[in-house]
Amino acid sequence: MVVPMTRASEPLVVLTDVNKHFGALHVLRDIDLTIHKGEVVVVIGPSGSGKSTLCRTINRLESIDSGSITIDGVPLPAEGKALAKLRADVGMVFQSFNLFSHMTVAENVTLGPIKVRGIDKAKANERAKELLERVGIGEQSNKLPAQLSGGQQQRVAIARSLAMDPKVMLFDEPTSALDPEMINEVLDVMISLAKSGMTMVVVTHEMGFARRAADRVIFMADGQIVEQATPEEFFTNPRSDRAKDFLSKIL
Ligand code: ADP
Ligand code: MG
Repeated sequence: MVVPMTRASEPLVVLTDVNKHFGALHVLRDIDLTIHKGEVVVVIGPSGSGKSTLCRTINRLESIDSGSITIDGVPLPAEGKALAKLRADVGMVFQSFNLFSHMTVAENVTLGPIKVRGIDKAKANERAKELLERVGIGEQSNKLPAQLSGGQQQRVAIARSLAMDPKVMLFDEPTSALDPEMINEVLDVMISLAKSGMTMVVVTHEMGFARRAADRVIFMADGQIVEQATPEEFFTNPRSDRAKDFLSKIL
């Protein structure tokens, strides 16, 4: 398989021969994947192909059965403080925003930096203000999540992850739970994040986003990376029958 190297920079996330089972189900099969600093990788594929599991193994929400995963040259720790530090380095944004409902927007964003990074409250608040403005919701910081639209809540979730100064951001279908009119406000934030040089892994069905922001598209099926290419190449000239079939259904 030809792996497009769109940015000649250092490897940041390296998966080597990763395998994972859920009982009899072989959910990740011999995954070899290197994500470089500043690279934006979009992961697509049919439901059940292992995309979420792949993301979850990268911040060790799931363990692996064999192979190795390193972040910035360091193997994923199994537990303890080192694991908390890893989770801070690997930001994750889910389909369901997972905000703390009893905390204000600002408190959601400052909690991690104060508790995990040990940053003092005033500094954390200042940074939260900055980040909330960056994602376009500076005015909402004293509200509770339930008072915000879905698109606004997802932007809070992005700001909350960014507040930890992650090395890489994982997005697992971040717009799938949103009403159509709110999808673009979240994608716009992600596009600007991509342009700012953030390393990103994005599972999405938003092919417009993939075309605009991805350096590389990875197509997964049945727990395997079947194909990877630049978006241009992948969308105009998919090679495998699986990818052709998938694209014919979603485009
Ligand atoms: P995708 O995100 O591509 O839809 P997933 O990674 O969520 O795929 O799931 C891949 C396969 O693993 C599916 O068949 C799913 O049902 C199964 N699976 C996911 N999580 C678990 C789990 N915790 N226990 C058992 N099976 C799981
Ligand atoms: Mg999924």
